[in-house]
Amino acid sequence: MTPPSTQPSGYDDRLAKKQIQFEHIKDLWIFLASLLAFLTVIRILRLLLRLFILSRRVNYVEPLEPEKHDVESTTSTIKTRVNSPIYRLQSAIATTFRIVAFRWSIPIGPGSFASISELTFIFGYMAAMFLWLFLDTRNLKATFYQARAAHLASCQLPLIIALAGKNNLISWMTGIGHEKLNILHRASARTNFIFLWIHTITRTLSGISGRTSFRHNWMRAGAVGMAALTLMNILSLRPVRNMAFEFFLICHIVLVLIFLFASYYHAQIALAGSYIWPALFVWGLDRFIRLVRVIWNNSTFRRKGDPSQSLATVKLLSEDTIIMSLKRQDFSWAPGQHAYVILPTVSKLPFEAHPFTMASISEKLDGTFSKGQARDVVFFVKGCNGFTKRLRDHGVGTVPAYVDGPYGCPPDLCEYATCILVAGGSGISYTLSLFLNLIRENARGKSAVRRILFVWAFRDESYLSWLSKTMTEALSHAKCSLSIELRMYLTAPSTKTSSSNASIASEKDGHSAVKTTTVVSPTEYHPSLKLVHGRPNIHRVLHDEIAACTNGGSISVDDGELMIAPDSCWTSGFDGSRATCPLLRCRCTSSCVKRTPVRHSSR
Ligand SMILES: Cc1cc2nc3c(=O)[nH]c(=O)nc-3n(C[C@H](O)[C@H](O)[C@H](O)COP(=O)(O)OP(=O)(O)OC[C@H]3O[C@@H](n4cnc5c(N)ncnc54)[C@H](O)[C@@H]3O)c2cc1C
Repeated sequence: MTPPSTQPSGYDDRLAKKQIQFEHIKDLWIFLASLLAFLTVIRILRLLLRLFILSRRVNYVEPLEPEKHDVESTTSTIKTRVNSPIYRLQSAIATTFRIVAFRWSIPIGPGSFASISELTFIFGYMAAMFLWLFLDTRNLKATFYQARAAHLASCQLPLIIALAGKNNLISWMTGIGHEKLNILHRASARTNFIFLWIHTITRTLSGISGRTSFRHNWMRAGAVGMAALTLMNILSLRPVRNMAFEFFLICHIVLVLIFLFASYYHAQIALAGSYIWPALFVWGLDRFIRLVRVIWNNSTFRRKGDPSQSLATVKLLSEDTIIMSLKRQDFSWAPGQHAYVILPTVSKLPFEAHPFTMASISEKLDGTFSKGQARDVVFFVKGCNGFTKRLRDHGVGTVPAYVDGPYGCPPDLCEYATCILVAGGSGISYTLSLFLNLIRENARGKSAVRRILFVWAFRDESYLSWLSKTMTEALSHAKCSLSIELRMYLTAPSTKTSSSNASIASEKDGHSAVKTTTVVSPTEYHPSLKLVHGRPNIHRVLHDEIAACTNGGSISVDDGELMIAPDSCWTSGFDGSRATCPLLRCRCTSSCVKRTPVRHSSR
């Protein structure tokens, strides 16, 4: 027989509270670790699948003018495959999933959107947190969740800080870039904020006296931490970030440090400081890696005595657009990645760093490697009101420059049969580097891509001479098996081309019934550049591409944003929540795409 307990029931409650608290924190971390493991496995499977698809498709060379016999036999094979109910069901499910998860987006604040997949993660995380907060609370007794709210919130601090870091384990494991993880950083940080306020309010309601009075330093530290956290949350709201990003950033870092140190001091009384110092460690590690990267990318000994490698060359493409180029020894990046640029003589603060996407690729277009050679890092910068305005005002010349990067996890498009790259304004940095890489991989025989449609909408005609030069070089390396179409949409009235001796054609836009005048290949630019006056009708462009996939080819558009913002600043929606640079990857089953390729005329 169990001897009757000699302890008061309050003691049992405290013991139970501690045990449940510990169990719930453990369960929460098991849940999050499982999610991370799941995403990592998905990534590995995708990489393996990609290798498999690539190895199958790379050797497939689409016949340019297929023999009648070939067409008939291929058509019947395709028809059998496409008409198979299992194939159709599988395609329908995959396409529906992609559309719902990645394409549908819902406004979550002024100028801020989240896709269904992002919202699933956000609400899933919040639901898990609240579930473990209120579970086993003996009819929602505040004493049971008052301390637990603080413990659950504190144990999440390392994760919240990791989600904000440029160098973080989560990106490396899942392949999700830091700029996309930022939305989860904000969601988890705000959940944490709510939890700490639940802790503060319930503690205040239960009475602040004796051991918990403000005569004690640990209680004062708690109040300081809460004040810093609250101010930080107010200053992190989008309007503040949009209006004064540098002010937000400095306040954020200072307030985070105050919050972490004060919380550590406060939590130590409950022996919970061990939740907080790992957060400081994660933050310090990210800063340390960034510092090492900056030193490594810009160090004198790697420049091999070339002083030009410490400078950036600035050219004005138009009155508000800058081409900034740097030379860097052995600095390499994947197409579509970005880097943080520090220009101490242009910025107001010595360590002010701004992200820009490399508009060039780090290896040579002809498929060879540039090991040991200086690479051209080119940025296409749209002038806004702060740092970029000062850079624009600086004008043509050279400036001391440092780069920190590369960052981001852009997609590899080589496995697709057809790629449609769509950009507006400065979004071209992203699509141009992907385009150049496809040409390079094609030259190396490592790409399954047979057709590229490159669409760019822009306002200033002067951009064309820059692009024409880049395209001329790129197209000279493309193999005959690659069909390339370059469609440029000039959204502002033309000043030059209408007076040029280019041939003029008219194009009736089927959907909007807007008549646009097309200037086909103005003579001063590369003959492949097709210039259209007006805005692109993306649906029409896609429709035409799908129609060109005769014989029932399957096309799905994934991972992109159907948004064209040629007149707006890139970050109007790129601050972690939405990429304004649209990328459409069309997965055409290569065996079922039979078209007459539009040849680029460099061949
Ligand atoms: C991953 C990524 C890649 C980008 N690539 C390009 C590119 O190739 N070409 C290009 O022209 N622009 C690009 N941008 C946008 C560019 O970083 C901003 O336009 C630039 O930092 C604005 O500086 P500013 O002081 O002139 O801006 P402001 O006029 O002060 O602000 C304009 C907008 O930029 C945002 N912003 C300001 N500073 C930063 C910063 N350090 N980090 C993030 N957002 C900031 C503000 O929140 C505001 O919404 C990219 C942004 C991101 C996040």
